[in-house]
Amino acid sequence: MVDYIIVGLGLAGIAFCERLEQHGKTFVVINDDSQTSSTIAGGLYNPVILKRFSLAWKADEQLKMVLPFYKALEDKLGISLDHKVPVLRIFASVEEQNLWFEAADKKKLQLYLSTKLLANNNPCLNAPFGFGEVLHTGRVDTKQLAKAYSGYLSKKKLLFRETFNFEDLKLGTNGVSYGAINAKRIVFATGFGLKSNGYFNYLPLNGTKGELLTINAPRLKEESVIKSSVFIIPMGNDLYRIGATYKWNDKSNEPTSEARYELQTKLDTFLNCDYKILSHVAGIRPTVADRRPLVGKHPVFNDMYLLNGFGSRGVMIAPYASNQLFEYIENGGTIDPEMNISRYEKDYIKV
Ligand SMILES: Cc1cc2nc3c(=O)[nH]c(=O)nc-3n(C[C@H](O)[C@H](O)[C@H](O)COP(=O)(O)OP(=O)(O)OC[C@H]3O[C@@H](n4cnc5c(N)ncnc54)[C@H](O)[C@@H]3O)c2cc1C
Repeated sequence: MVDYIIVGLGLAGIAFCERLEQHGKTFVVINDDSQTSSTIAGGLYNPVILKRFSLAWKADEQLKMVLPFYKALEDKLGISLDHKVPVLRIFASVEEQNLWFEAADKKKLQLYLSTKLLANNNPCLNAPFGFGEVLHTGRVDTKQLAKAYSGYLSKKKLLFRETFNFEDLKLGTNGVSYGAINAKRIVFATGFGLKSNGYFNYLPLNGTKGELLTINAPRLKEESVIKSSVFIIPMGNDLYRIGATYKWNDKSNEPTSEARYELQTKLDTFLNCDYKILSHVAGIRPTVADRRPLVGKHPVFNDMYLLNGFGSRGVMIAPYASNQLFEYIENGGTIDPEMNISRYEKDYIKV
């Protein structure tokens, strides 16, 4: 008998396992490789939406949790995960510079938008109008985190590497069982895999495919993240991630030649030096119709919970949403109504 079965070990599953370990709860995890979002993500955390120069949803609250959360994981796993790297937004015009400075004057954004106009000193970048710097940003190595966390749980014999078989799930009046495992509760954290979960697939998880390239650009020598029509994310050793695309119709994890072309074309508008493409990856972001996470208890089954819908901001949302779900289940806390799946309860009844 364990306290929890967790299905899915991406950022959501990992974050929930962390809450459980911190509070001495017992659990097992079932995870397969059907979804790739957390292992291929750019891993950036950034409180500002750089298209509109506005604050991301609950960014202040989330950011407060980001640093201690990933620091604790670094200490526990003995690896370096959180790379505190600045994000520089290339200005396309004087008008954009003005919009930036207007935004930087607003109370909510003062903490995050630098009021210095940075000139471009990198001959490989085309940025005649300079950059604005976003403060309190960084990159979490989500691939390394997923790998190290799987290894950590495997060593403790808490991870089953298999696809969850819904036919083996039995719901009792007091707890659940899955094959030979009995648990008080089950939490689904399967990202876009929610689509094959009959208990929760009434929820409007749309999924947005994203693709990224890794390039080798020995002359670029850039240490900041550069944002123009795409991001350039420095990875060390002259390697950079380039991304990402947003596609709403294709729901496969396969890289496409169209996305590669799109990324290269956009990159070539502001990168002036030679580069070589080393790899190309794709994944489905678990995006939701109303752009808010999907967190909470099943409308009918009391011991069944969901942690999903992190969209394109899993790094910042995972610590925040996992904490609220844990507090809700164990200590009678409330889940922010904007992300509580109770907002879609009417859709469940309709089904
Ligand atoms: C190209 C791209 C770039 C991104 N860049 C960023 C970024 O820079 N910053 C940021 O914050 N976010 C970024 N994201 C978004 C981020 O990756 C997601 O928000 C986050 O990874 C979602 O985590 P998750 O755990 O909910 O889902 P997932 O990562 O999809 O994890 C779900 C896990 O459950 C498993 N699973 C699914 N179904 C089953 C089943 N039936 N049985 C067993 N296991 C199952 C999957 O295989 C997977 O291991 C990016 C996403 C993409 C695609």
